Amino acid sequence: MTQQVPLLINGELVASESTRLLPVTNPATQEVIAQVPCATEAEVERAVDAAKAAFETWKEMPVGERARLMLRYQALLKERHDELATIISQETGKTFDDAKGDVWRGIEVVEHACNIASLSMGETVENVARKIDCYSITQPLGVCVGITPFNFPAMIPLWMFPMAIACGNTFVLKPSEQDPLTPMRLAELFQEAGAPAGLLQVVHGGKEVVDQLLTHKDTPAISFVGSVNVGEHIYRTGTDHMKRVQAFAGAKNHMVIMPDAQKNQVVNNIAGASVGAAGQRCMAISVAVFVGEARKWIPEVRDALAKVRPGAWNDPDAGYGPQINPQARQRVLSLIQEGKEAGADCILDGSECIVEGYPDGNWVGPTMFSNVTTDMSIYKEEIFGPVLIALEVDTLEEAIELVNNNPYGNGTSMFTASGAAARKYQHEIKVGQVGINVPVPVPLPMFSFTGWRKSFYGDQHAYGKQAVRFYTETKTVTARWFEDDIDTGVNTTITLK
Ligand code: NAD
Repeated sequence: MTQQVPLLINGELVASESTRLLPVTNPATQEVIAQVPCATEAEVERAVDAAKAAFETWKEMPVGERARLMLRYQALLKERHDELATIISQETGKTFDDAKGDVWRGIEVVEHACNIASLSMGETVENVARKIDCYSITQPLGVCVGITPFNFPAMIPLWMFPMAIACGNTFVLKPSEQDPLTPMRLAELFQEAGAPAGLLQVVHGGKEVVDQLLTHKDTPAISFVGSVNVGEHIYRTGTDHMKRVQAFAGAKNHMVIMPDAQKNQVVNNIAGASVGAAGQRCMAISVAVFVGEARKWIPEVRDALAKVRPGAWNDPDAGYGPQINPQARQRVLSLIQEGKEAGADCILDGSECIVEGYPDGNWVGPTMFSNVTTDMSIYKEEIFGPVLIALEVDTLEEAIELVNNNPYGNGTSMFTASGAAARKYQHEIKVGQVGINVPVPVPLPMFSFTGWRKSFYGDQHAYGKQAVRFYTETKTVTARWFEDDIDTGVNTTITLK
């Protein structure tokens, strides 16, 4: 019998009493590898209660102790790097190396959380008035909630709970129901690293579970990563319930290619950034904007894409894996069809892709369109598949206008040899993460992950210093210690004397 994924409540792995089970499948074979329960209302309530009770003790824990938990966790994650990547490969279909990258980008955030003492330092000004000092301190919020997507089952949970817990909060994680085995293993390892019971709970399920957490009176902060429609729902509902919300949503990332760029760099970088992870990355490059003479490289980009071969998780030479499920594959195929019907040129068509030995996998081969216009659905929709669309413009100004008119603002990159063009682009572009001759500009955790516009709802982003602001309240203290000789008299004004 396939295993049922447990919940983690108050340090215990518990079997859910729910009768609603969803299959977790290997997307290369459709083999059901586990069943994930949709937690009952009572179980979600118990998870929040456990987190609330644990908060009372954890918020008093010295910062050094909190940091040392993260140090132990970081070491354990590194030790189990391959084991975690194997689980990811099987439940998402990612290639093993890409799965290792998913874990690694999460480990880097745990490393960042080890610096919590210096990250959470407040500010002090002596003598804001005569013999009066003012200083700020940061304090945790309580029970924080994380709702995560399927496409980075290690990295995105690790964006959230290590920083929240290092700040002194406790946490309830609701991972994607499509690949819950990786986050579950992350949670078990957190316990193994010495996390006290109740610091981290994991509950599974879909909309009902999310909505219960989103409207719960004891969950002051919600972190969400996922698609744009759900992100808008999360942000609206969470803020309506007076919560702090950060919601990272969909994307349509453009790479602008100037004619003075190094052609080989462009061709190689665009191939990896567009079809890597089967295009199922929020920072994947899905639109290439060829400026002026650079348009003559379109056939070479197509040839580079054509050489990337999808394959199963256990194929060391595969460039990327399958789509996460048959519906996701069907959606990509429908959009490819719409692109053809709208009159774009499908210069590389991966819709009939076959991977030998895996007839049931959710495969889509590398696909590329040219002659695309901005009114076509392949331009307007986030395809989230290995599909690159090429647009052509004459000038850098036109390219900037095009990118700025797209509602999403997660990431963009530009390839050029001109410092002046790069400076103009980074300054004028309304996108939160910009790569200059770097195709996928995901910032390391000393910075924050700073999507803009329709790619992010909220104000404080993930990791970096912004995560500490998101997961804490700032308190300012204005203090005067009387000496015997001071008599300030009566002050009826608002100024300090
Ligand atoms: P999704 O929105 O379908 O699911 C995300 C989470 O929300 C899951 O835990 C899911 O169970 C839950 N959920 C789904 N429908 C819900 C509903 N109606 N109400 C409440 N909760 C619901 O996203 P996905 O398909 O798992 O992930 C892919 C999407 O995530 C893409 O759009 C991608 O761009 C986006 N993403 C964005 C970032 C970013 O940083 N901006 C990072 C990774 C992924």
